[in-house]
Amino acid sequence: MEIAVARGDGIGPEIMEAVLSVFDAAGVPLSYHDVEMGKEVYERGLTAGMTEETREVVEGCGVLFKGPLETPTGKGAKSVNVTARKLWSTYANKRVFKTLPGVDTLWSKAGLKTDITMLRENIEDTYGAIEHLQTHDVAQCRRFITRPGSLQLHRTAFEIARRKGARRVTCGHKANIMKLTDGLFLETFYEVARDYPELRSDDLIVDNLAMALASRPQEFDVVVLPNLQGDILSDLCAALVGGLGYAPSANLGEHICVFEAVHGTAPDIAGKGLANPTALLLSGCMMLRHVGLARSAARIEAAVGPALRALSRPLDLGVPAPRPSTADFTRAFIDNLPPEADFAHLVDDPDNRLHIPPVLQPQRMMSTPKLHAETCGGADLFVESTESAEAVSRRIKPLLDDQLRLTMISNRGTQVWPLASRFTECVNHYRVRIEARPGVGDLSGSQLLTLAASIDPVIRVCSMEMLMSVGENRGFSLAQGQ
Ligand code: NAD
Repeated sequence: MEIAVARGDGIGPEIMEAVLSVFDAAGVPLSYHDVEMGKEVYERGLTAGMTEETREVVEGCGVLFKGPLETPTGKGAKSVNVTARKLWSTYANKRVFKTLPGVDTLWSKAGLKTDITMLRENIEDTYGAIEHLQTHDVAQCRRFITRPGSLQLHRTAFEIARRKGARRVTCGHKANIMKLTDGLFLETFYEVARDYPELRSDDLIVDNLAMALASRPQEFDVVVLPNLQGDILSDLCAALVGGLGYAPSANLGEHICVFEAVHGTAPDIAGKGLANPTALLLSGCMMLRHVGLARSAARIEAAVGPALRALSRPLDLGVPAPRPSTADFTRAFIDNLPPEADFAHLVDDPDNRLHIPPVLQPQRMMSTPKLHAETCGGADLFVESTESAEAVSRRIKPLLDDQLRLTMISNRGTQVWPLASRFTECVNHYRVRIEARPGVGDLSGSQLLTLAASIDPVIRVCSMEMLMSVGENRGFSLAQGQ
């Protein structure tokens, strides 16, 4: 069976070489198709960070095993790591944080064992990086959370919890503040939870969750989070088990899956032979299970504990032993591979794979049934101005017809007209809320776009959002102080 391999940037080639040597020593029946991604591709001027051939190879075999890839800083190029996740719809990022033998941490020394599986949403959220400069002083990032995307992730989290034999699935969120976006993420979590009554499902606001993970990690089992919050908390969880060198991950989709370590290219130690390949090796074992090679995966995983114990040498006359090199790790993993016969009860059989190779199909539209009428009751216009909110209101009001009224102006999300506090500091970007007068009913998009066109010559319109209601529910947030 063939899989695509991107060796990566920075420490990537060193740790990938180490992992593939362990695979070879264990006789893993895979062949590798090297693909080009990352720094060298960017340097050739391809801002996607991967070649067309890479895309075709990965889409052909459905599995990519990758080392970390550098994202060029500055403008233009997008992160190829994120592109790979989004392009191939790997909507669930599974990360495993497990206390390992021989890897001492503050928590393991305190007798607190960690075995947390984190499911991070992988496509939506601010990670969409849909960004626009609105004025020279104001940049915006749009944050989309979708019902189909959240349902997909939560279903995967509960299925993984079932396979793990977990007791608890916890949703992290910030729905107390972001009631529509994180509110949708949380609502869909409990919708899916109803199908898994044997699992305890609960939720925690993400800041509280961060503290709980750091102080009581042993209480958590499967944790599911939106993209950015999951990104941050997964590094916190990596610290619980000894650092980024010990945190494997899988990006799971319906068609294509990408296996990689949680960490990046570690430019500070690249080329020094100091990189720890454990996280990539454990990610590789996840991949082996995924393609039906359960025996190889179990045998290599069984080598990890004894190898790490052997490498964690005691203090020598009070002086800590030197940090193991990548070569030390590789040798230790190979030397500690248990006999094949110990795993005779398991089989390496591609027919047992969790993964079905991709079938070419048109792009899929994911949608859920519309349960309530959707109406438009107005628009928020975002306009550029350094005048006072009162002055902005005086310019806008004469432009409104008798169906519409100006209801509120906010600045950075805080109401500034009608005046709420003289101490609210402003920037040159106002949100002007225009709503239908009572009894007018549904407004059309063209009516509101015509209004925006009439306002723009008077005060520059930067962007616009419609004010939707779904059934009886308002589909837009109030301003702070409104
Ligand atoms: P990083 O994860 O590369 O490094 C953070 C710290 O952890 C560094 O001190 C590093 O030496 C250490 N570290 C990381 N992996 C290690 C390992 N295997 N063994 C020993 N020490 C290890 O994070 P960063 O410095 O913020 O990012 C560097 C680059 O990596 C950036 O270009 C970033 O975009 C990229 N990155 C890529 C991925 C990915 O490919 N999935 C993920 C994160 C960051």
